[in-house]
Amino acid sequence: MSENKTHCGYVAIVGRPNVGKSTLLNYLLHQKISITSRKPQTTRHQVTGILTEGSVQVVFVDTPGMHSDQPKALNRYMNRTASSAIAHVDLALMVVDRDRWTEEDDRVLEVLKAAQVPVALVINKIDMLEDQGLLLPWAESLQARFDFAGIFPVSALRRANLTLLEEFVCGRMPEAPYLFPEDQVTDRSQRFMASEFIREKIIRQLGDELPYATAVEIEGFRQEGRVLHIDALIFVERAGQKKILIGQAGSRLRTIGTEARKDMETAFDSKVMLKLWVKVKSGWSDDIRALRSLGFEDS
Ligand code: GDP
Ligand code: MG
Repeated sequence: MSENKTHCGYVAIVGRPNVGKSTLLNYLLHQKISITSRKPQTTRHQVTGILTEGSVQVVFVDTPGMHSDQPKALNRYMNRTASSAIAHVDLALMVVDRDRWTEEDDRVLEVLKAAQVPVALVINKIDMLEDQGLLLPWAESLQARFDFAGIFPVSALRRANLTLLEEFVCGRMPEAPYLFPEDQVTDRSQRFMASEFIREKIIRQLGDELPYATAVEIEGFRQEGRVLHIDALIFVERAGQKKILIGQAGSRLRTIGTEARKDMETAFDSKVMLKLWVKVKSGWSDDIRALRSLGFEDS
């Protein structure tokens, strides 16, 4: 007798900024889709990754950091995305950083409790834990805090203990038809991926100099023969930021472009001609309409 039944469901990866959500998602997807960086809150969009293995499909929602009391429109947008992303999932993976439980973690857990979804706790970065012996008592103390569906100490970066977590996630998916074609890893357009590659390089290049004051818009995206031509606009808030971004004789922008192009060529399996422009668009991050026009749809 053959088993043709498929399992499929939604999984939200939640947690305060910088705990390793994107790194974990990238591992689970076995390829680079979501953007990671040492800076918190790089993932402003709700990135969906899709893992299809055996007869199970897992649709991941990588939610942005859940911040309260931040005045800017961008953060309000992120709060709403975070809570709406969680409400209908089949499983939430709450990621925490080793034994560092903070008030922000409390808030994340409150949102999860309110959403009434099953939650598995992922204790990440155990490679940086000084005393591994503390892990078990720590896990037990967290289980007293909330009835987690499972607790998984892992290192997303060093790829430790991840197989168990992956099996657990797949095992929790309800019997259902696939939501996406089997060969689809992301429902985001290649344009979106292109803009995220550029954003990642900007953040890698600039560190603290230009925190979140940039947005990337893909103006042109066309295949001509063997070459994919991509034109991108980088918006900054002030003229001074434009200067920093461009760098000495354009050197910094060139580095950003070269590195982003390499990622694009790998991801799109094509030669890529990338052109970057920098424009000043004052106060965009505090302007909901500007957010919408840049594709931050708030559904
Ligand atoms: P996010 O903000 O939750 O999506 O976090 P990221 O996935 O962007 O990771 C934030 C930082 O933590 C990056 O510098 C990662 O390389 C690092 N990181 C993630 N997982 C681990 C881990 O298991 N061990 C260590 N040592 N670093 C990690
Ligand atoms: Mg992230």
